[in-house]
Amino acid sequence: MEVRSAAIDEDGAFGDAVAAALHDHAPLAVQDLIPPPLPPGGLWDPTAPPPPEPPPTPLAWRVCFGDVETRDRAAAAIEALGLDLSVERVDLPDDDWVARSQQSLTAIAAGRFIVAPPWDLPAAPPAGVHVLVIEPSMGFGTGHHQTTRLCLAAMSALPFEGRTVLDMGTGSGVLAMAASVLGARGVRGVDIDADAIEAAVRSAALNTLPTPVAFDTADVFAVPSAPVDVVLANLTGAMLIRAAAPLAAMVVPGGTLVVSGFMHYERESVEAALDRFDVVSRTHEDEWCADVLRRR
Ligand code: SAH
Repeated sequence: MEVRSAAIDEDGAFGDAVAAALHDHAPLAVQDLIPPPLPPGGLWDPTAPPPPEPPPTPLAWRVCFGDVETRDRAAAAIEALGLDLSVERVDLPDDDWVARSQQSLTAIAAGRFIVAPPWDLPAAPPAGVHVLVIEPSMGFGTGHHQTTRLCLAAMSALPFEGRTVLDMGTGSGVLAMAASVLGARGVRGVDIDADAIEAAVRSAALNTLPTPVAFDTADVFAVPSAPVDVVLANLTGAMLIRAAAPLAAMVVPGGTLVVSGFMHYERESVEAALDRFDVVSRTHEDEWCADVLRRR
């Protein structure tokens, strides 16, 4: 459906109200039909000054649902707000737009890796660069997030030959597969989300892994395994802080913990919580951070 306001959404009040009304109806996608203008130098010009806030516009959103009944319930909820909004029920052709939008994902490079979807495999990767094939689906970790790239770059500089590895919060399985490719001896990838594990197993089948990765569902607070040489934990800052003790128990003395998923302002408290480790290196991309830590 398409929701529009005639008036300019001056302080975002229309947007807030519509977002709240949509909340219970789980839209599959919300597209702003009036996207903000690109800054003059383009998005990636680091020398350009930060662009000024774009002027407010009327609200114009296209909201997509999996079925007509959900759409109609959501449209009624928006109409019941009693705001000056027009709600148009539109039927989009069901031509698998989810799959098509995923198809626009392309290969990305990080450290000694290229992470590629099956439809964008590099024809001739540079020498020493490993290609990891990830089927973008339920698992986080297509390489399009800074934290995945930070972990892959950190891993590229670490010794994995013969090491045992646990990927805690494996998502798509990308880091576990990277560890296998770098020569780890035993690799386990776990995630609390069973859909992610299913996707990771599917992606692993698309790769030639020197050591198979054991994927299973488990919680960071209850991992019943012997400590390993390297633990990879791309979680969140809050989760790393809460799980500092179990994470320390998963790493052998002298072993390595690679953490990411936290932001600059969280770094100090993440490092303070992980007090059984020394910091070996710190990296960041945009606001996202990663640390390589050594267990005392
Ligand atoms: N390792 C991947 C995915 C990171 S996203 C990468 O680097 O790209 C973080 C993952 O941690 C998600 O898949 C999420 O399901 C998982 N996760 C969140 N809380 C968890 C917990 N308590 N125990 C195990 N996994 C958890």
